[in-house]
Amino acid sequence: MTLPPSLEETSSSKRGAYKVALRMAFAMGISFFIAQINLEYIESYLYDLRVRTKLFNPTSGNIELIYITPQTVQLYKGLPSAKEQTALLKNLEAAGAKAVVYDFNVVETPGSTPEKNEWEATVVQSGNVFVAGRTTPLKGEENQLFLADPLEKMSLSPAPKTTDLVNFAKDGVTRRMILTYQGRSLLPVQLASLVNPAAADIKNVRGHFDFYGTDQAYIDFHPAKTYPSSSFESVVSGQAEASRFKDKIVLIGTDLGLDEAEYITSPYSREVTAMTRIELQANTIDTLIRNSGPQKAPKFVNWLFILLASILTTHVVLTMKPTRGLIVLASTLAGFVGFSAVAFWLGGWWLPMAAPLLTIFLCYYFFIPYRLIVENRRSWEYYQKNKLLSQVEELKTNFISMMSHDLKTPIARIQGMTDMILSDTVQLSPQQREAVDTIKHSSDDLLKFINAILNYGRIESQGVQLNLQSKDINNLLQEVIRKHEFLAKVKRIQIVSELEPMFPVPVDADLMKQVFSNLVENAIKYSPEDTKIMVSSEETSEKVIVQVADQGPGIPSDELQNIFMKFFRSKNAKSSPIKGSGLGLYLAKYFTELHRGRIFVESSHGNGSTFTVELPIEQGGTHA
Ligand code: ADP
Repeated sequence: MTLPPSLEETSSSKRGAYKVALRMAFAMGISFFIAQINLEYIESYLYDLRVRTKLFNPTSGNIELIYITPQTVQLYKGLPSAKEQTALLKNLEAAGAKAVVYDFNVVETPGSTPEKNEWEATVVQSGNVFVAGRTTPLKGEENQLFLADPLEKMSLSPAPKTTDLVNFAKDGVTRRMILTYQGRSLLPVQLASLVNPAAADIKNVRGHFDFYGTDQAYIDFHPAKTYPSSSFESVVSGQAEASRFKDKIVLIGTDLGLDEAEYITSPYSREVTAMTRIELQANTIDTLIRNSGPQKAPKFVNWLFILLASILTTHVVLTMKPTRGLIVLASTLAGFVGFSAVAFWLGGWWLPMAAPLLTIFLCYYFFIPYRLIVENRRSWEYYQKNKLLSQVEELKTNFISMMSHDLKTPIARIQGMTDMILSDTVQLSPQQREAVDTIKHSSDDLLKFINAILNYGRIESQGVQLNLQSKDINNLLQEVIRKHEFLAKVKRIQIVSELEPMFPVPVDADLMKQVFSNLVENAIKYSPEDTKIMVSSEETSEKVIVQVADQGPGIPSDELQNIFMKFFRSKNAKSSPIKGSGLGLYLAKYFTELHRGRIFVESSHGNGSTFTVELPIEQGGTHA
């Protein structure tokens, strides 16, 4: 049958439940608060870190880049003319390029009108040449998608770059691509679908999302210079191997370092010239071909992470020990960062990190001071209680000492009177003699008890002053044995002594006699009748060793470490008629240690006990 919980248990479990509920409510409150903060800047930065640390990210191998560089300009004494452009295009056609994209300002191309017309005719004829437009005209403004005379037959295909300037992180970094604008697919989609027809349907594009009427997706970036490239002049002159352009989407652009529009800042670097425009287009097209766009986790995941982070942190800070809590939080933090990184590297998942991390920091720094206040208050209470207890303890000791002292005189009188009666020649009846004997023994016991208490009181209040004199320890032992012979005889216990001759050592004879007396008396008290007690002494170069061994009941191992504590009596001793205060060994230890010595016992239940006292030969003791 199980007992119903006590009133105290019920109220403490209620208090526990209340605390948990309060913690949960707080965690939810803080999650709600943090979810409202716009952390896109930090989040995007953490995203960039994940992009940068993605070490293995192959390309589809379908893209080639051709650059007009300062060397090109130097060679042609200006930008390549329409004639050179025609030559390049013809070479690329001959090499079997899948598509050719002009992603620079073609209007600035120098050359005569017939040259331009020829270039235009070659472009129109080939059918797989595209001119990337940098803007996306609104519906009804399609006329803007054509170039001006004499290149009026070349149409523009919008392929604008996106920059997080007004929305998202607002840090000017390009992370996204526009897939459609007003229902029309933009150039990268058209080009990618030449290799991966599924890309033509935006619904198939991984991670696509709607943003103000456009379809967008994140770009799976590769570091700058990942895509293979050749210089304009090398392709025109036929130096570049024609085979490298076979079936490739060839992007032609500039890397002149003249105009910001030639470049973008990427997740890899925030330098103005971090990546060329055609590299951006290459990354965009390649993402669509491989369908590897990073997928951003839905909003509720952010909520969930924040909630879990705040619950965990409040729990850890409020319930765990500081170092353990710190370890748990640090490993959770490391685990979470590691998990998010791996999810991105391997699965292309963009998990929210900024808000959960902020939650952990906020909860931690909010609750640590709170916990400190609570703990400070608690230790102040302990301190006060402790102070009160020591005062009470002092009062108690003083009171006991006073009482014991006052009891000594009446006992001395009782002892005097009993001695007088016993030594008197007056014949006492056997019953009377027995009664007087009992009075004498009882008053002896009482006196011993009072002396122990008085010693204890002295130790506790002002300590004990050692009165060192050179003494032969063997003399002290013999005196102690003699004094206890009668007691031993009553129980037919034989005290055997083996005392090695030794030099006198500086000791306080009174105190050491008390120590040895206590050991011998205990041995007699706790041993059964008809046993032996062995008292031995020996001397080494540094110390005098005294041992008192008996054949008594021994001391159970679980009580061994307690027997030198004040007022400790073993369970057996307490339930037996053997009298004692529990102070004897405490005082013995105290007095021995005053002499800079040590006392210890070896005993096992049922096998007798051996108490050893070691006293240093040199230097006396301490004055407590
Ligand atoms: P007490 O006044 O109870 O003898 P002590 O401080 O002298 O107090 O001893 C503490 C306890 O150690 C005793 O209660 C007893 O249980 C145990 N003890 C001490 N000496 C012996 C011994 N020689 N044999 C068995 N137990 C002992």
